[in-house]
Amino acid sequence: MTERILLSPPHMSGNEQKYINHAFETNWIAPLGPNVDAFEKQVAEYVGVKSAAAVSSGTAGIHLALQLLGIKQGDIVFCSSLTFVASANPILYAGATPVFIDSNPETWNMSPNALERALEEAKANNSLPKAIVVVNLYGQSADMDRIMELCDIYNVPMIEDAAESLGAKYNGRRSGSFGKISIFSFNGNKIITTSGGGMIVSDDEELMNKARFLATQARDEAPHYQHSTTGYNYRLSNILAGVGRAQLEVLDERVARRREIFDKYSRSLSHLPGVEFMPEPEGYFSTRWLTTLVINPKEAIADSKTVLDELNKHNIEGRPVWKPLHLQPLFDGVKYYKHSDISVSDFLFENGVCLPSGSSMTEEQQDKVINTLNTVLKNKVC
Ligand SMILES: *Cc1c(COP(=O)(O)O)cnc(C)c1O
Repeated sequence: MTERILLSPPHMSGNEQKYINHAFETNWIAPLGPNVDAFEKQVAEYVGVKSAAAVSSGTAGIHLALQLLGIKQGDIVFCSSLTFVASANPILYAGATPVFIDSNPETWNMSPNALERALEEAKANNSLPKAIVVVNLYGQSADMDRIMELCDIYNVPMIEDAAESLGAKYNGRRSGSFGKISIFSFNGNKIITTSGGGMIVSDDEELMNKARFLATQARDEAPHYQHSTTGYNYRLSNILAGVGRAQLEVLDERVARRREIFDKYSRSLSHLPGVEFMPEPEGYFSTRWLTTLVINPKEAIADSKTVLDELNKHNIEGRPVWKPLHLQPLFDGVKYYKHSDISVSDFLFENGVCLPSGSSMTEEQQDKVINTLNTVLKNKVC
């Protein structure tokens, strides 16, 4: 059997070892150190924000962001429903209550219409959220103009979950530069990886200093170990930051390659009945972290489940689109605002498919995926 074609495996540049070796030679194994400082500076410059703090994961970044915004037990936090559970788990860590917002069909990201309705209702009930976690799905920014306008009107800070969208742009501005606080993930499956890690970024340097303080056990300035607030052990190690520095050098190449992979899928499969790729509206520049498409059941020859089974039979890793959080047993009974009469995220979950999209995928591997899809989805010969 040939090697399994994976969804999004790590793709090293070859330079990682150089930074790791340097950390070993200088014994900057832990904690923090020059690789961390440089990695933070480079990510902040790349994204176009004043400050960045390297953390142990994207999830830790979201948790810190909520703490920095003072989210407490009983507070309400809005969050995109169509996302990975890590966007919302930290809301539970804080003892706060999530409210989930649907996607729109244009971007698959948070629906400004649904958000507007949710905010209007919350205002009327005197239950406005303390923050809104806005996710940039599969490498594409959410509709930031309309979402930020709503955040301004209701005076609610936005946390931008850019875990999947490092390298993306929205109206020429980098993804991750829109939130009051934004986070990135360097988990193994992301567009670049430190094997595990994350970054929290903001233009508010004071907040970021506080992020570093909270992430290192919240130690007061005193020679003895003194603490007056709850802290966390959330910093990134100097070795892993070295991996990140080398990965950052090839980020734009990785984005270009993922977009190229998307374009080839799109060119080769768009003619099939019912096949609709995730749109990229004007002004949006997606990293195409994962190539995703919908198999529209009204027109397609096979449904998404059959397609995924067929891929698996050919030793190809495909995945359904994220199961929306409002459908997760974990969030049973949580409030949810649909885009309109229909729930867009339900439709995307039921009919969506993510295809292997790793930047290290070969042409032959991609051809195999394309041929498999062509066979299951092509028009039946009459
Ligand atoms: C990966 C991911 C996270 C979590 O990042 P980790 O580094 O794995 O903790 C959060 N949100 C989204 C949307 C993600 O895809």
